Amino acid sequence: MTTPIDVATLRSNDRPRWPFSQDVCMTCGMCACTCPVSGVDGFDPRKVVRLAAMGLEQELVESRWPWICTMCGKCEQACPMEVRIADVVRRIRSLRDRAQVPGILHKGLQAALETGNNLRLPKDDFLFILEDVAGEIREEPGFEGLQVQVDKKGARVLTTIHNKLVNTHTEDLKHWWKIFHAAGESWTVSSENWEGTSWGYFTGDDDAMKAMAGRILSQMEALEIDTLLWPE
Ligand code: SF4
Ligand code: SF4
Repeated sequence: MTTPIDVATLRSNDRPRWPFSQDVCMTCGMCACTCPVSGVDGFDPRKVVRLAAMGLEQELVESRWPWICTMCGKCEQACPMEVRIADVVRRIRSLRDRAQVPGILHKGLQAALETGNNLRLPKDDFLFILEDVAGEIREEPGFEGLQVQVDKKGARVLTTIHNKLVNTHTEDLKHWWKIFHAAGESWTVSSENWEGTSWGYFTGDDDAMKAMAGRILSQMEALEIDTLLWPE
């Protein structure tokens, strides 16, 4: 059973804001050279780091730039000063008023906190989709005996599911399940809180991220499982 989370009680503002060493930036531009979205709407990770270092965080918070970054981390690999640029971006996102977080991310996260998944997909519909996908796999040679495993206590692996895999990309579920089946793996999917996409992470909402991760941990404890496959 998913216990709805009161989002208002999650927020806390007592953490250090900028523990990312951006003040050692020497403006070499290596980050901008490697960033795949550098130049989009004037975005440039070097500018982000410089603005943060100069204390102009509010300008960053109000700009679109933090939401252009994909948080891929390529810039961090290139930075000779080891500035944690993606973490700077994530912290900027965390400082934006939650109601001003871009639409789908905000709504999806609210849905996940309230229902256990970003889609507000009811449990019965979720289970129907899982069985439907399993049925399609069973029609393929070699997979006639495949069973979808839900809430299997004592399984070796618990796997979360990206919401798009039960929405628009059900084909992508099949790859995982076929591998499990072929390997003789003991695996299961939780019927509650199965969401593998943490928009708490992507929106800089540490409290929401922890709440969602905590739910997955609780599922593992309840099902006595010690290995997690978290594809997202
Ligand atoms: S993490 Fe963001 S800023 Fe860094 S390279 Fe990726 S998209 Fe660019
Ligand atoms: S690569 Fe590092 S040191 Fe160079 S501009 Fe970017 S953040 Fe600054």
